[in-house]
Amino acid sequence: YGVFEGVRAYETPYGPRMFKARKHFERLKQSAASLNIDLNYSVEELIEISYKLLDKNNLQSAYIRPLAYVGENMALSSTSESHFLIAAWDWARYLGNDPLKVMISPFEKPNPKSIPTHAKVCGYYATNILATKDARSKGFDEALMLDSKGFVAEGPGTNFFYEKDGALYTPPLGNILPGITRATVLEMATELGFPVYQKQILPEDLFDADIAFFTGTAAEIAGIRSIGGHEFTMPWEDTAAYSLFLAYRQKVTHSDHQDCVII
Ligand code: PMP
Repeated sequence: YGVFEGVRAYETPYGPRMFKARKHFERLKQSAASLNIDLNYSVEELIEISYKLLDKNNLQSAYIRPLAYVGENMALSSTSESHFLIAAWDWARYLGNDPLKVMISPFEKPNPKSIPTHAKVCGYYATNILATKDARSKGFDEALMLDSKGFVAEGPGTNFFYEKDGALYTPPLGNILPGITRATVLEMATELGFPVYQKQILPEDLFDADIAFFTGTAAEIAGIRSIGGHEFTMPWEDTAAYSLFLAYRQKVTHSDHQDCVII
């Protein structure tokens, strides 16, 4: 078992810069703590290691995948001593650039009483992987998962928003990963004057939406063109979501992010 993160570094006028690196590595430390896995690197060390990794691999932009895992012990109550690995590779936007055909998944998010949803825990992703594979096998691009009470939760590797009359709606924290991109979108929406409501969403609420989108480090802001066969009619370029998409790209590729360590 283990915990992991997904961080992106972007080519910026200041050189390669990880977006919100501190928040990602703080979440990695919290994920490890919630499973009682030792992770004996500080956030600063993890940031420094990541920049060294980019430098050694001559990567200007990259997806970075740290993983802390417990390996040797065969017992269920095994040691909390961990191994740590970190990989980086050049990776285009996960889920691609075209608006997505999404289905509501029969695979539910696990109950947060069984596994902490705020942590990125490896085993937890088995359900999410099944949800994506199932959606793809049925001719969809991605799954949208509900929680155990039937409310819309999130994508298998993304958070979810929908838009109606220029306002944005997203599920509250509790049964979802508190996404760093989600938090960035909430901040940017407020800056750009789009009202945002965090509320429990039923699948039928989505029929009324103008558009919907996923957010995540790997997927960034990915527009959704249909959910469960229901097509959204508003052109993507006319939506508040599209303004946020543009603002996000500008932010990640042009900020000299404060939380970076230059080596
Ligand atoms: N939900 C899940 C289940 C995820 O795996 C991810 C990707 N980390 C997200 C949401 C989005 O989180 P973030 O914006 O921090 O990448």
